[in-house]
Amino acid sequence: MITALLLDLDDTLIDDKGAMASGILSLRAKHCLAQGMNDAELSERWDSIGRALWRQLDLGEVSFEEQRRLRIKNTFALDLSDKAIDSLFADYLHCYEQHWRSYTYTEQFIRESAHLPRAIITNGHRPQAHKKMAALGLNKHFPTVVTPDDCGARKPNPEIFLHTLKLLGVAPENALMIGDNLEADIEPAKALGINVFHVDHTKQGRTVFDVLAQL
Ligand SMILES: [Mg+2]
Repeated sequence: MITALLLDLDDTLIDDKGAMASGILSLRAKHCLAQGMNDAELSERWDSIGRALWRQLDLGEVSFEEQRRLRIKNTFALDLSDKAIDSLFADYLHCYEQHWRSYTYTEQFIRESAHLPRAIITNGHRPQAHKKMAALGLNKHFPTVVTPDDCGARKPNPEIFLHTLKLLGVAPENALMIGDNLEADIEPAKALGINVFHVDHTKQGRTVFDVLAQL
């Protein structure tokens, strides 16, 4: 029996991929960058370069600051000073934040699962995760938010899941992990005996709304 929910944030409750794509297109327009690239090509490039750098960040191959700089430099093939790149990244963050949106079904999911204890479990930086949740009004529904800053471990490290289960006071077999990332959310949770629901926005019946039928 499911008595508690563990939820990923980005691309599970919030359309983060969409916000990143809109954010980078706004930055490009503002600074007249990469004029030869079409919108889809640029947003895909920003996404794939970002994800590859996050993996390197997880492995300790680049610092948090370096991955941000490399993401801008490699996406736009720019050779600028660190200061100029940092300023572009700060501008990107501003554009990105303007496009934060929950999915249309997030609100209904939150309302109809309110009877269960719920925790957000995200690899985002704590200040950023809290800022995002507050901006979208999600913070009042999720008093428990676990980030690597809170427990010293990033998904898929089992420690972050165990820490969250402990906070909720729930056994793995009574918890349900809901997330869009197989490697970071689903496989490690399953290995701990937690029930799982893999969110996939490209498939019908695979959003958080569809989880409600299982509760
Ligand atoms: Mg996610």
